[in-house]
Amino acid sequence: MNHNDLAAQDNEYIANTYKRVDVDIINGKGSTCFDLSGKKYIDFTSGIGVNSLGYCNSDWSRAVCNQAQTLNHTGNYYYTQPQAALAEKLTARTDYSKVFFANSGAEANECAIKIARKHSVDKYGKHRNCIISLVNSFHGRTVTTLSATGQDQLHQHFFPFTAGFKYAQANDIEDLKSKLDDSVCGIMCELIQGEGGVIPLEQDYVKQITQICHDNSLTLIVDEIQTGIGRTGKLLCAEHYKIKPNIITLAKGLGGGLPIGAVLMDSEHSSVLSYGDHGSTFGGNPIVCAGAEVVIDKINEDFLCDVTAKGKRLYSELSKCKEVETIAGMGLMIGLHLKSKSAAYVMAECASKGLLVLTAKDRLRLLPSLNINDDELSEGMRILMSVLDA
Ligand SMILES: *Cc1c(COP(=O)(O)O)cnc(C)c1O
Repeated sequence: MNHNDLAAQDNEYIANTYKRVDVDIINGKGSTCFDLSGKKYIDFTSGIGVNSLGYCNSDWSRAVCNQAQTLNHTGNYYYTQPQAALAEKLTARTDYSKVFFANSGAEANECAIKIARKHSVDKYGKHRNCIISLVNSFHGRTVTTLSATGQDQLHQHFFPFTAGFKYAQANDIEDLKSKLDDSVCGIMCELIQGEGGVIPLEQDYVKQITQICHDNSLTLIVDEIQTGIGRTGKLLCAEHYKIKPNIITLAKGLGGGLPIGAVLMDSEHSSVLSYGDHGSTFGGNPIVCAGAEVVIDKINEDFLCDVTAKGKRLYSELSKCKEVETIAGMGLMIGLHLKSKSAAYVMAECASKGLLVLTAKDRLRLLPSLNINDDELSEGMRILMSVLDA
């Protein structure tokens, strides 16, 4: 099979929801992958922040293969070792009380929203069920997480949307305060808006939100689906802001390439859901959890220092580039606002020269694997600079 056959088959049979870059990928190792023709690509996308250990990391794939030959799946009626072990590690490392495992980011956010609402409704009554989220946020593609997403362009179809969401301007505390009333039960935000263009919240704003939640008994949900699990140089991005949200949602990088979502709950929220209130057929699947355990084990302090150092290197080299207007992000989550070239053009041009990058709105977005090595980083940067400076 060649590229054109594959593209034709895909276009014929896959629903038209993705606008594909004209690249196929057949295999990879580390941060390098190959297409059907044997062409090599350096990967600065990690599959949208998913392959935290790169393609087919040996320890990860060994754990996954072993688990696939031991216990592939069983219903959540039963205890399984990989699920319990991952839950213990994750809560211990993050200092949360309990975790619920789902299969994706949107599902993790759905669960978080249910917890915030039930917590409030149980305590204060049915009317107190509204969540304030931020303009330009992204929380997922289900009807409720689309409602939580503060982007008008994503609210054009699929009516009726789930009620009970209000949107406040990011980094504008007065706007948020003006939206507070008796119906509000929680605030939900990303600390760095990822799909929105890699836009970090200001330290002071986050501090104030945290205080407001504390003073008004509101549940603070932080969506770390993109920023979590080492992406920003800390295990959780919340550590940069020195906050402990009531609920943190995780997904993308946690599974190292297999679908997982996780909802971390503090002690106040860990017993809100009880038997029958929530569940998932696949959530906490043993193969997925065995892979995620390897990811968590690898991301120790030394590993995180490396992420920070690599991020700094990218940041400093890119800020010298004439085409770069501004650069934002933390660790290995970087957004570039370009002067004259469109991000979509740079993405396509890089792909043709053997580098995969992402866009987010009008920004160029880089989310390399956390363990990308210096040679891959140098080679990718050489290609990126040649496209930006051309
Ligand atoms: C990707 C993402 C989601 C959605 O995750 P899915 O696994 O695609 O459902 C939600 N929130 C944030 C911040 C994300 O980056």
